[in-house]
Amino acid sequence: IVVLKDVKKSFGSLQVLHGVSFSVEKGEVLALIGASGSGKSTALRCIDRLETVNSGEIEVCGHKVHDPDLDLRKLRLDVGIVFQSYNLFPHLTIRENVTLAPRSVKKLGRKEANDIAMACLNKVGLGEKADNYPEQLSGGQQQRAAIARSLAMEPKVMLFDEVTSALDPKLTGEVLKVIEALAASGMTMIMVTHEMGFARRVADRVVFMHQGLVHESGTAGILTDPQTAELREFVMNDL
Ligand code: ATP
Ligand code: MG
Repeated sequence: IVVLKDVKKSFGSLQVLHGVSFSVEKGEVLALIGASGSGKSTALRCIDRLETVNSGEIEVCGHKVHDPDLDLRKLRLDVGIVFQSYNLFPHLTIRENVTLAPRSVKKLGRKEANDIAMACLNKVGLGEKADNYPEQLSGGQQQRAAIARSLAMEPKVMLFDEVTSALDPKLTGEVLKVIEALAASGMTMIMVTHEMGFARRVADRVVFMHQGLVHESGTAGILTDPQTAELREFVMNDL
């Protein structure tokens, strides 16, 4: 459902992705790990066409993302992305934040959008906070609201970029729980994470990036039994 083939990406004279290839099947959870600066966020952003690749191919749910003629709107309907910063609109309630895109992009009516929003908010455990404003929520709750906002568009693939790295451990746990439940429900997802225990538990597949390349990949088992010195060192530093 997501395929990257020999993807290269530079920013000016700095080459960040040196030919990245990996794929995710429908219903799979892929954890993208690696040291800071190894190109994880760039790879994720290329998948959602927030960055354009210099060469190589990316296919997502049948969309040729590398194609200059890509229908961006159709791609974005199929892909949800959540970042470290929640980017909720502060002047809108949580419910309004979540219904915004279904109403404006999918042209759903008020009731239908509201029903979907409430289902998604309940899924992340925030049904009772629907009429609060973002500033009235904890960081973990805001992040869960951001996940609900993404889910309300009913994407086929979810991308998560270190969604818990701004949170303290307790709030991290509640957000990870939501992502884990989403994984169990069969959602296809790619998550950039520094939470190795979480990756080990939830990921079907792990891709370890090093200096802009996939250095090692496999099942979550590679985290306990790394084959390369670089992954071994990376996992060790995390303990
Ligand atoms: P981290 O774990 O710190 O988030 P990462 O693996 O996500 O790291 P990227 O954000 O993909 O790393 O960045 C890889 C390299 O590309 C870094 O050297 C970064 O400075 C550079 N880079 C990323 N985005 C841009 C940009 N828009 N313009 C110029 N350089 C960039
Ligand atoms: Mg990053």
